[in-house]
Amino acid sequence: MSQFVQLADLAPATVSQERRIITAVPGPKSQALHKRRLAAVPLGIGSALPIYVERAHGAIVVDVDGNQFIDLGAGIGVTTIGHTNDAVVAAAAAQLHNVTHAMFTITPYEPYVRLAELLGEHTPGDFEKKTLLVNSGAEAVENAVKIARYFTGRTGVAVLDHAYHGRTNLTMAMTYKAMPYKTGFGPFAGEVHHAPNSYPYRDGLSGTVAARRTIDYLEKKVGVSDLACLVFEPIQGEGGFVVPADGYLPALQEWCNANGVIFVADEIQSGMARTGAWFASEHFGIVPDMVLSAKGIAGGLPLAGVTGRAEIMDTIHAGGLGGTFGGNPVSAVAALAVFEQIHSLGLLSIGKHIEQVLLPKLRDLQAKHEVIGDVRGIGAMCAIELVIPGTKDPNAAAVATVTAFAAQHGVILLSAGTMANVIRFLPSLAISDDLLLEALSVVDEALASLHAGDRND
Ligand SMILES: *Cc1c(COP(=O)(O)O)cnc(C)c1O
Repeated sequence: MSQFVQLADLAPATVSQERRIITAVPGPKSQALHKRRLAAVPLGIGSALPIYVERAHGAIVVDVDGNQFIDLGAGIGVTTIGHTNDAVVAAAAAQLHNVTHAMFTITPYEPYVRLAELLGEHTPGDFEKKTLLVNSGAEAVENAVKIARYFTGRTGVAVLDHAYHGRTNLTMAMTYKAMPYKTGFGPFAGEVHHAPNSYPYRDGLSGTVAARRTIDYLEKKVGVSDLACLVFEPIQGEGGFVVPADGYLPALQEWCNANGVIFVADEIQSGMARTGAWFASEHFGIVPDMVLSAKGIAGGLPLAGVTGRAEIMDTIHAGGLGGTFGGNPVSAVAALAVFEQIHSLGLLSIGKHIEQVLLPKLRDLQAKHEVIGDVRGIGAMCAIELVIPGTKDPNAAAVATVTAFAAQHGVILLSAGTMANVIRFLPSLAISDDLLLEALSVVDEALASLHAGDRND
């Protein structure tokens, strides 16, 4: 617990690190805002919880009605080092005054260069690397594919079942789940091939056998000589925090390396200290040719990076890469502060500590609630998969009930999974043990409410 004091102490008095529900959820002010929003914002932009946020710090989110929520979602793994981390806020505020925008392709600036150096040092692999900075995760994926195609002279892009890579045209093609991401939005970019993944709870395959299945698919159905890259998430995020079986990713890497296929780790959700390592690839002993980072990289500011082997990254002619806002100085400086905070606060070990608190508790809940079919995850990236008791049939209704119950009781809980039957736990590393355990006791009550109603199981 003492490990968390450093960060928890940074909380200003205005956001006490405690759960407090003082109105119905959503409260009257949130409801009024929601009405305005429905008139002004397209319906295609959903919101998991119609509670409107006013302030946030550390592991707590405060809504416009003054309710305080324990945040187990961190804006989908973005505020990994905590909401409004003081060092990030101070660095970004100072940079706003110095240079807000310069456009790196016109007049460059140091924070971009420093961040490229840091990403090169902190991504797996002891070789020369270069980093391109862009605005969003999807844009990082787009650029990785673009670079891999140029370097290899091949067009094919391989992805894995249950993957999520974004919402632009190419990344929609690379994403697995039709609803809500793809249905009606085609035609999609071509030459994208979806191969079977490793999903131990559902396929029961060893890493070697699952890798053989993936490779067979790519060799027989796609043809290696046309394949530029394999893009994969070391731990699948939106797909349901699927941790591949041991040996799966190393076997894929070996095959990619042997066949000239660029091995691209989409660490947009799993990277930047989320799993108790700088990048989740480290847990699996793989060294990707390119690593993509985004979500947690800049403490909440928009930024993404493509870090890759220098010889691959450098094949593209000047002007072939870039973008107006890519590597914006304010975002870049915020990211430098994130790196500094992860080092100075020892956040990698805190990520491991959170796993040690979270996984045993989730297993206790599994022993108690038959609806939990699987417990999995690494670091502060863990999940429970809900099923119809006695089967492995996905139970999306139970997930909806549990997340709604949690919100009513002051805990922000996110769902995931291509079958919408996974609850993911991705708290910020600023969360105290006490808050985490308190949130889990709410989850316990929420799961118990399923038996009480006896409607969802
Ligand atoms: C969120 C996410 C993306 C897309 O990032 P955006 O910034 O939303 O474009 C891509 N890949 C993974 C693994 C993600 O989690």
